Amino acid sequence: MKLIFATNNQFKVKEIQPEVGNFFELVTLKEAGINTDIPEPFNTLEENATHKSKTISELTGLDCFSEDTGLEVYSLNGEPGVKSARYSGEEKSFEKNIDKLLEKLKSKPERKARFRTVISLMLNGTEKQFEGICEGEIIEIMKGDRGFGYDPVFVPFGSDKTFAQMTINEKNEYSHRKKAVNKLVNYLHKIKQHN
Ligand code: IMP
Repeated sequence: MKLIFATNNQFKVKEIQPEVGNFFELVTLKEAGINTDIPEPFNTLEENATHKSKTISELTGLDCFSEDTGLEVYSLNGEPGVKSARYSGEEKSFEKNIDKLLEKLKSKPERKARFRTVISLMLNGTEKQFEGICEGEIIEIMKGDRGFGYDPVFVPFGSDKTFAQMTINEKNEYSHRKKAVNKLVNYLHKIKQHN
């Protein structure tokens, strides 16, 4: 089964591809001939994910899924949340976003946070969403050079490494995105069994 993954983020494709490889063939936006970045104009991950998957399925006439992820820091009332990519501005700089986050957390003893992923699947014109959450804490300095985004400052509970110090396989033992993808794959398996 071919399914478009509505993203231009190659890190996300690398994380998800091995998890779905045997079951369906992931077609990236680039491979589908779409070279634009789909805007994320809404105030919730759910709305942004829906917007992306709807836009792409309307453009291509094919089934697809999108995902939107945010880092939610408890002592910052859920910031940066849906604004995670643009926390420090439109430039979407990973480093500047981390600098801003660490600065804001300087005076806070509580550093608990979670990543939350929402996947929106558009299948035969009907939408279904899947959520994945990974809890952990924000450390005071960056560690590791793998991954992307806030990976160098996020340590998931149960590990003493940041996501940026982990291989993709290790990150996937904890990852929010992997949990949401598991739900998506289980759902598609069930549908296949009934057809
Ligand atoms: P997006 O809108 O889903 O692409 O994600 C928004 C931002 O959240 C990204 O630009 C990253 O900064 C951050 N982000 C999303 N997923 C991850 C992750 O797995 N690790 C670290 N940061 C992430």
